[in-house]
Amino acid sequence: MPTQTAPKTDRYAKSTTAFAKAKALMPGGVNSPVRAYKAVGREPITVRCGKGAIVTDIDGNEYIDYVLSYGPLILGHAEESVLAAISKAAGRGASFGMPTEAETQLAQVVIDAVPSVEVVRFVNSGTEAVMSAIRLARGAASGGGKPKIVKCTGCYHGHSDGLLVQAGSGATTLGVPSSPGVPESITSNTLLIPYNDLNAVHELFKEQAKDIACLIVEPIAGNMGCIPPAPGVGPNGKGYLQGLRDLCDEFDILLIFDEVMTGFRVAYGGAQALYNITPDITCLGKIIGGGLPCAAYGGREDLMRQISPDGPIYQAGTLSGNPLAMAAGLATLEALREEGVYEKLEATAAALETGLQKAASNANVPIYLTRVGSMLGVFFTNTPGSPITNYEQALTCNTDRFAAFFNTMLDNGIILAPAQYEAWFLSTAHDEACVAKTIEAACGAFKNAIGIE
Ligand code: PMP
Repeated sequence: MPTQTAPKTDRYAKSTTAFAKAKALMPGGVNSPVRAYKAVGREPITVRCGKGAIVTDIDGNEYIDYVLSYGPLILGHAEESVLAAISKAAGRGASFGMPTEAETQLAQVVIDAVPSVEVVRFVNSGTEAVMSAIRLARGAASGGGKPKIVKCTGCYHGHSDGLLVQAGSGATTLGVPSSPGVPESITSNTLLIPYNDLNAVHELFKEQAKDIACLIVEPIAGNMGCIPPAPGVGPNGKGYLQGLRDLCDEFDILLIFDEVMTGFRVAYGGAQALYNITPDITCLGKIIGGGLPCAAYGGREDLMRQISPDGPIYQAGTLSGNPLAMAAGLATLEALREEGVYEKLEATAAALETGLQKAASNANVPIYLTRVGSMLGVFFTNTPGSPITNYEQALTCNTDRFAAFFNTMLDNGIILAPAQYEAWFLSTAHDEACVAKTIEAACGAFKNAIGIE
């Protein structure tokens, strides 16, 4: 009997072995759920390294990366100036728990860049920035007498107890947590509204303004794909963000922009600079740490001075303002101030958008593609021709098609975030050749997406 030919070496063999070990030791084998690839029905690759727009897995496969660590790496992986800054800082010591000049330097850069930020506090993650901003808003609003906060369905603001409330992801009604372990006494203070719906905000404010400390929003929603704020329509039409600003002013409610994703991404000064709307408090993260753990919240001086030790609202952190993170952030933001950086990002992302649209149309796959600068959303829509402007609409997309598309892209050397509702990010390291390869792979991947049915 002829012996059976050995199977072709599995392209992901080492990743598979590595992930089996990881799963035995960590929940799902990961330190953040989306990395387990549950939504796309396969196991993740295990990364060995990254350089520029490329990541390499431990099997030696290379991928053009549109995850970019979920947004921070706007200069690409292991960018030289950032690397040099980190090594130099590391040589001086990793952490002190005492002031360093780098903190003041990054504070100055952030304050100069982001219109709403007059005073800033650094923390370690976006979750922490938002949690602290909410505490500030509650503490500052009417001396702490307003317990409620408002958020939009589909906007993600980190995993703190009061912010996990999410209709549609395990919970369906207002005030029900989407995670066990979060007491109802906390979630009942979080009120949900649909994104891009000013009437809903108005109605809610009319009923409950006296109890509401703040409204928090992603000015461009990046955690349900990429959904831009509705522009103003008609002669007196207000855009969504202007409408929020006006309603918050009218009802004496603080407006918080969560720019953890959009800050320094869609423009140097973030979405607030792009749309010219100034919130009271801003949360930042991702890019300001250049890939190291760093985030911040900042805003009007009269508010920020209420933070301890200037004021009574407590918030602290052993590693906050970490010297390595400050150095990486400073180097990243310095590179972003160079002439033409955002124009280049825009041009590359626009070329990708055009190519993807064409590839989808040639394959007869209806998609709804959104883009603001170097942030994209590719929705596998089930309602061709209708825009997707909020989470409820985004949820109607075809996630099976996305999974098939994702898997073909991965097998062809293009890595995307493994869920329909994550944004794509580009870096300055992505060039025309990356875009061309991506579009070529997408032609086949769109065909496979529809071929599964
Ligand atoms: N806010 C927004 C808008 C985010 O996109 C994220 C993370 N994706 C967070 C907050 C939470 O940040 P982190 O994961 O650093 O806690």
